[in-house]
This record gives sequence, C-alpha cells and structure tokens, in this order.
Amino acid sequence: KERDPEQREFHQAVEEVLQSVKPVLDQHLEFRQQAVLERITEPERIIIFRIPWMDDEGQVHVNRGFRVEMNSALGPYKGGLRFHNSVNLGIIKFLAFEQVFKNSLTTLSMGGGKGGADFDPKGRSDGEVMRFCQAFMAELFRHIGPNTDVPAGDIGVGAREIGYLFGMYKKLSNEFTGVLTGKSLGWGGSLIRPEATGYGVVYFASEMLGVYGDRLENKKCLISGSGNVAQFTAEKIIEFGGRVITLSDSSGYIYDEAGIDGEKLEYVKQLKNIRRGRISDYVEQYPEAVYTPADPGLDHNPLWMHPADCVFPCATQNEINRRDAQHLVDGGIRLVCEGANMPAMPEAIDIFHQEKVLFAPGKAANAGGVAVSGLEMAQNSMRISWPREEVDKRLKQIIKSIHTTCLDAAAKYGASGDYMAGANIAGFIKVVNAMLDQGLV
Ligand code: NDP
Repeated sequence: KERDPEQREFHQAVEEVLQSVKPVLDQHLEFRQQAVLERITEPERIIIFRIPWMDDEGQVHVNRGFRVEMNSALGPYKGGLRFHNSVNLGIIKFLAFEQVFKNSLTTLSMGGGKGGADFDPKGRSDGEVMRFCQAFMAELFRHIGPNTDVPAGDIGVGAREIGYLFGMYKKLSNEFTGVLTGKSLGWGGSLIRPEATGYGVVYFASEMLGVYGDRLENKKCLISGSGNVAQFTAEKIIEFGGRVITLSDSSGYIYDEAGIDGEKLEYVKQLKNIRRGRISDYVEQYPEAVYTPADPGLDHNPLWMHPADCVFPCATQNEINRRDAQHLVDGGIRLVCEGANMPAMPEAIDIFHQEKVLFAPGKAANAGGVAVSGLEMAQNSMRISWPREEVDKRLKQIIKSIHTTCLDAAAKYGASGDYMAGANIAGFIKVVNAMLDQGLV
C-alpha cells in the first residue's frame, strides 16, 4: 500500500485473500518463512507500453497498454485483455491477481496474467478498432506465446478484437499458433467458449442451490451488464426456467417485469454484438419494459432495488456497495453469484454473510470462461476440435469440482459454507505449494 498507494482495486483484492488465508498461514509456518505473501502479491513481470494509432479523420492518438504477468507457477500466464477508458495499472494488477487463484481452481495448467489498454472501442469504427488492435499487438507480440502467455477477451475485447489481435500476431511472428483464446470457430476457436463464462456462472449457482435441494426454476433473477457474460448468464437461466428481469450497460438499466425470454435475448445480442447499440433501445422494441438512465449522483444503483431471488452482477468491479447490498437483502434475495470480477464491495459481502445470503465470488463462479479457454488451448495443441456436448460436459464437470473444492477447503479451515474463504484458500494453497517446489525464481 505504501509503495503503490493509488492501486486501490489491487489492495482490495489482496486484502480479501489475505483475510481468508490467515488460518492457513497460522497452520503452515513455513509459508511465512518463505515470504510467500510477499512473493505472491508481486507480479513476476509488468509490461507497460505506448500504443500510437490513427483514427478515421487522420488524427493520431496515444493510449497506454499493459500486460501484468502475475504468476507462472502452474502454467503459462493466462488471462484476458480489457479495453476500457478506466483501465490503469491498479485495475490490471487486481484482475491478474484474481486470475491466479481462479486458474488454480480450474485444475488446468494455467498461470495468471491480465492486460489491456485505456482505450474504449465504444463509438469507434471497425477500421479504428482494427488499427488500434494492430498497434497494441505490435508491441505485445514479443512478450506472449502459446507456451509463455496466452491472452483472451474481457470487457471491450470480444470476437472482433480477438480476430484483429490474432491476425497481427500471426503476421509479426510468422506462426499460426493458439496464442490467444476466444478465437472464432473457423480458425482455432472452441465451441462453447463464447458461452462459457455465463453458462458456468449459472451451473455454479445451480450447484449452490442444489446443496439445499433447490433449483433456479421460477426464480426471479437480476442481472447487471449486457455484454458477453450477462448475455450467456441470461441464456442459461432462461433455459433452466428462471425469470431474468433486468439487464444494464454503463448508461442505465432496463426492467422487464414479464421476463426476458429467448426472443428478447436474441434482440439484445443483435443490439449489443452486431449493431453495437445501447440497452436503452430495448424499450423501443419492448415498450412494456422500463428504462432508467444511470445517475452518477446517486449513492446506490436502483437496479438492485427490485425484489428478486437470485442476483448475477455481470458488468464490472465494485458495482454493489453497502446500500445496494442492503436493498438486495430487503428485497428478499437468497443468492448472489458473481459473473463479473469483484463486483461486490467488501462491505456488501459482509452484509451477505451476516444475512446468510449464499454468496459465490467471481474467482470461483466465473471460472468457466478461462476453463474453456484452457480447453481451447488443449484442442489447439492437439489440432482437433471437440464437439459442443464434449466441451459443455467438461465445463460442467470443472464447475462442479470447483464448487466442491470451495466447500471442502472452507470446512477444513473453519469457515463452513463460506465460498469466498474456500475459493481463496484452495487457490492459494495450490499455487503456493507449486512456488515452493520450484524454489526462489
Ligand atoms: P463486455 O464488454 O462484453 O460487457 C461488459 C458489460 O458491462 C457491458 O454491458 C458494459 O456496458 C458494462 N460495463 C462495463 N463497465 C461498466 C461500468 N464501469 N459501469 C457500468 N457498466 C459497465 O465484457 P464481459 O461481459 O466480457 O465482462 C463483464 C465482466 O465479467 C467483467 O468484470 C470481466 O472481467 C468479467 N469476466 C469476463 C469473462 C469473459 O470470459 N468475458 C471471464 C470472467 C470474468 P457498456 O457497453 O456501456 O460499457
């Protein structure tokens, strides 16, 4: 904190893990002697670079690019790229740190990393996005590779951006390899990768409810965001018979009391992925729904005031504060399953725990995306592609095993039923043991 006081999100993510692993450190004195905390919180390498690119009017812009290679104890660095104007080193470090534990939980051989740029693709033409991606990769390509560091998508980086990034990597390296995941199906992508994060979130929620003999059927569900994770979370909830009543973007949210069905969700996918429009357009198509614009002056988000059973925050970090959590509890929620990374603030999580709301942290619940990225890497190495059913089956198995791992680790260290403690403890122990085996490197 003293060294990098401005990296708030990173400190928040580290503090959460440190709190959870305290009982582990108390039992394993060798972890302290080996300075594992100091080592695990310091990235192995950080790359920061200039990205000069030209817009359609011939104006030159300069953005800043990042890749944080956090930990390679379990495999090549693996984690997404985020293009958003809020991106800074603290945010990328927090995401890279979370990724280390998440990847460990998947049981696949992947270290943790994250990257991105303070560039917002919103409102930019395809040509501008392509030139930006090419300029970004013109530097990043020398630091990554299929056995070194394998980036993927995140906020602002979807199939279009991955295509442009891959094309430039291929040109510069003169190699066609699985250096990025989230590729399109025709040239090395995996079936179910676009769906994987959202589907995995819902599989995880079903596992949580299943412990109590309950299911998602007929549950009223709140979702924030309307991007990749939100869309496929909604799709799977609908398939499981739940009722999705909200979606949002950074400009506001829609509330559809009747529920967003398959046809309405298809409209949202077209709107967001093809037309690149705003969620406010939804009410023009479906006038029975209500649109509420975001009000930055409010100390809470009215989306979280709607009574519901299950909550799936799928937009961004710190989108549920103490007041929002209280509103959710007052509205009768039973379960919060994080699709986004760290969407609930620590004081909100405290309220969920106090009120016995089932709470799953993103590093466990949204690990399905990176898990299928790991499966994409495996398919690329073997130069084969598995059918949809095969990938979905493996995804379900991985999520089921993460769910069990979290509960077992929590119970073993005196935090029964606490998924956050369980995820942090299980992820931590596996990475730390690998680091110790590999010596001081
Ligand atoms: P997308 O870019 O596809 O969608 C992001 C959505 O969140 C958009 O609706 C966006 O609205 C909204 N959003 C972004 N920033 C803000 C903000 N500051 N305030 C309000 N709304 C915001 O990203 P993804 O769906 O891929 O990612 C969503 C979350 O899930 C992120 O936390 C990401 O790290 C996490 N995640 C993603 C994985 C993946 O496989 N894609 C894997 C694991 C986690 P707008 O269009 O207005 O910006």
